[in-house]
Amino acid sequence: MKLAMIGFGQAGGKIVDRFLDYDDRTNSGIVRAALAVNSAKADLIGLENIPQENRVLIGQARVKGHGVGADNELGAEIAEEDIDEVQNAIDQIPTHEVDAFLVVSGMGGGTGSGGAPVLAKHLKRIYTIPVYGLGVLPGTDEGGIYTLNAARSFQTFVREVDNLLVFDNDSWRQTGESVEGGYDQINEEIVRRFGILFGAGEVSGDQEVAESVVDSSEIINTLSGGGVSTVGFASEDVEVNTGGGLLSRFTGDSGGNTDNLDAANTTNRITSLVRKAALGRLTLPCEIEGAERALLVVSGPSEYLNRKGIERGRKWLEEETGSMEVRGGDFPREEPEVAAAILLSGVTNVPRIKRLQQVAIEAQDNMDDIQKESEENLEELVEDDEDELEPLF
Ligand code: GDP
Repeated sequence: MKLAMIGFGQAGGKIVDRFLDYDDRTNSGIVRAALAVNSAKADLIGLENIPQENRVLIGQARVKGHGVGADNELGAEIAEEDIDEVQNAIDQIPTHEVDAFLVVSGMGGGTGSGGAPVLAKHLKRIYTIPVYGLGVLPGTDEGGIYTLNAARSFQTFVREVDNLLVFDNDSWRQTGESVEGGYDQINEEIVRRFGILFGAGEVSGDQEVAESVVDSSEIINTLSGGGVSTVGFASEDVEVNTGGGLLSRFTGDSGGNTDNLDAANTTNRITSLVRKAALGRLTLPCEIEGAERALLVVSGPSEYLNRKGIERGRKWLEEETGSMEVRGGDFPREEPEVAAAILLSGVTNVPRIKRLQQVAIEAQDNMDDIQKESEENLEELVEDDEDELEPLF
């Protein structure tokens, strides 16, 4: 599937930048165009792969290139005021060759948190292709304002996109790492998961055609109907035997009924990866039961893929989710691993979001109280007790 990716704010820009790198490394061909929009000049300069002419600085009249300092209402205002500048950059990309837009942002900050929903609304008004969001939730340790920003951005973003794919920084945080180093690793996880999903179907001429192909329309159909999505992923290393055949590190067989054994192993490996992907760490932790639609993509060297494994995995997913709309297919890639990526769309049982909203409301109440209190305190400080002094004017 060919995407026009627009990274809004720092996290959004960095993630789209990594997608370009992933595309380069793996030849996946999913990024047809990449843009970064920001109100902070320094963040745009820090990007590595997004072409200079595709970096759009907005809000110069208001914040002079210094960013909005986690004020997402200001982020939304600036995006509205300067939407023409963003549109001018989009006009330069071949949107007729694009299957969908993907607007990427960290929902806890200011520029992307406020701006991404504004851009999504604008794109939906202008274009007929789907507009998806990839929204990143802040870690719970980031504090009240980030949580409040994320809760408000989430509500708005879901409403404005055709589907909001969510990634929760909190479930991917690793202890004992610098924040920056941590993000590098997290961003790699993001592009790997979404890269395999969106890359399915983009099989170029010299790659093998998948036995049961996943094409862009199946990704679009899985995401249609709106709502919130999460992605599960699991992989297992396999050995590519350069002598021609392929040998799994895990088969351990020694001749005999090799073909049957290999086929059984292949099927079992796939079904076990599907289980691990669905029951393991999701990009947004949630109950998978009740997901409206799902898409299973199994990638790996074609010798390690088979229809039976994918069919069984698909059936199992139907049972686990209770969904009647579970699609599946393979994605041959000459990488030394077999991977299962599962897109669960229309998930609604998400305790993480409910907790986020609770904390956000508490933060909002606290902030109101603190503001009221500090106004009273200032009044008390400035005014003399007996009201004997007069201000100058
Ligand atoms: P903005 O530039 O004002 O839109 O704000 P940022 O994008 O800097 O930050 C918003 C939120 O995104 C933060 O609270 C973090 O949770 C998250 N974040 C920042 N940088 C990264 C990154 O590189 N990767 C990921 N996954 N999250 C990030």
